[in-house]
Amino acid sequence: MITKIEGMIINETPYGDTSKIIQIFTKEYGILGVMCKGVKSMKSRLRALTIKFTYGSFYVYYKEDKLSILKDVDILDDFKTIKNDIFLISYLNYLTELTTQVYKQCNESFLYKLYIEGVQKINEGLNPLVITNILELKYLPFLGVGLELDACRMCGNKTDIVTIDADEGGYVCQSCYTNQILVNRKTVQMIRMYYYVEIDSIRELKISEEVIKEINFFINRYYERYTGLFLNSKKFLNKMLEL
Ligand SMILES: [Zn+2]
Repeated sequence: MITKIEGMIINETPYGDTSKIIQIFTKEYGILGVMCKGVKSMKSRLRALTIKFTYGSFYVYYKEDKLSILKDVDILDDFKTIKNDIFLISYLNYLTELTTQVYKQCNESFLYKLYIEGVQKINEGLNPLVITNILELKYLPFLGVGLELDACRMCGNKTDIVTIDADEGGYVCQSCYTNQILVNRKTVQMIRMYYYVEIDSIRELKISEEVIKEINFFINRYYERYTGLFLNSKKFLNKMLEL
């Protein structure tokens, strides 16, 4: 029986001369391996529809414990803005690698929704670093290292928060403050917004460069210290951001 499955191709491997095996990150079936017979042939209509970062509805003979078999594909969005921009492709690469890694640790299908919404927002032209940082923050609970953003990390005090510090693991209040970097007031507030915002509802972003940088700095440091994830695509992205 043919099953219609929504997803994004996250990997492709050649198989023989004319076929390939793709991995699709799907809404309902997690990461699904699919055999695509004959699609590398020049004549195949599916040739262009079975490459990495194709987002669509896949019609497959679904097999639970082995490779499913591809029959057809309908594109849902070609993410043209991203694919025409080498810089945005680096973001897509990183977000895909990150999401896959997080998914493998928690098997939480909600990640799919966050990931696709994030990619859609980047494709709509919203600041890719902000969207990436929002996803990175939202993934933290799935990695078991969620943030407490209602009180001081050290004493639980809910007022007089003066900064946020990755080494301390969150907010620091006036009386616990020693020598941490003092971030912009707005940074303290915006991190909370990033953490709780519904990605789908974001229409525009008005955030200063300074705040964007401080939040990115916090997240990079927090990931280094608490998540154990060191992704090459992230290193590459950071290098691009320094240029
Ligand atoms: Zn405190």
